Amino acid sequence: METPRARSLTLMVPDWPGHRPGQHVDVRLTAEDGYRAERSYSIASPPEENPRVTITVERLDDGEVSPYLVDEVHGGDRLELRGPIGGYFVWEASMGGPLLLVGGGSGIVPLMAMLRHRRARASTVPTRLLYSSRSQDEVIYHNEFDDVAARETGLKVIYTLTRRQPSGWTGYGRRIDSDLLRDVAWPAQDRPLAYICGPTQFVETAATGLAALGYDPTLIKTERFGPTGGE
Ligand SMILES: Cc1cc2nc3c(=O)[nH]c(=O)nc-3n(C[C@H](O)[C@H](O)[C@H](O)COP(=O)(O)OP(=O)(O)OC[C@H]3O[C@@H](n4cnc5c(N)ncnc54)[C@H](O)[C@@H]3O)c2cc1C
Repeated sequence: METPRARSLTLMVPDWPGHRPGQHVDVRLTAEDGYRAERSYSIASPPEENPRVTITVERLDDGEVSPYLVDEVHGGDRLELRGPIGGYFVWEASMGGPLLLVGGGSGIVPLMAMLRHRRARASTVPTRLLYSSRSQDEVIYHNEFDDVAARETGLKVIYTLTRRQPSGWTGYGRRIDSDLLRDVAWPAQDRPLAYICGPTQFVETAATGLAALGYDPTLIKTERFGPTGGE
């Protein structure tokens, strides 16, 4: 488990064609009566781990698919996958930077694939990650972040905890707004590449905020994790 609600599943995919950091897969579940449900999950692992493919799923208690993937799947089970999918929300070390990653909740997952790829390539592209979670115990990959932030050249991880902050917390403690983005983001004149992923409203706020700071809209890429049936 990554947090009490989020779990990483590493799948062995012998004929995996390879993927690019930021792409996703569709996971299809079929019940005994033939009922099928399919949902998208970003790939958390870097291409360098092929043929292993890791996804990280956050349980929505009233969801159809995520509670099954978080609570019910066991080692040795088989899952039906389609992918890799998506060619737009992708960053590879050869694309350079500076790089600004903005993630909300499980929106961290494709950004993690980019960071793991950056590490696998020993890239030193100047990178800032702004990661918004509700509380400290909902920070996915917190152990890995503690480790990488201390060791990796040119990488800075900035947290904001929107609902509960532990005592002594020195990071941000509110939802992303234009002041917070101005503090954290690279100056627009550096022509940063920006990747924003999370719930729809979060993505809209961050993208609008970066555009207002003068970011080139064509260099801002977004991915929304909105509910499958709603919005
Ligand atoms: C490209 C992409 C990548 C993604 N990557 C990840 C990832 O890495 N990790 C991750 O955890 N998630 C990811 N998601 C989200 C994921 O695909 C699922 O949406 C999520 O797991 C919820 O699925 P579920 O079946 O559990 O919930 P669902 O049954 O789909 O329900 C989701 C929510 O929507 C509400 N809802 C359902 N139907 C309606 C409706 N008709 N009207 C209003 N509300 C409704 C439900 O109450 C629930 O709160 C990604 C989504 C996309 C599009």
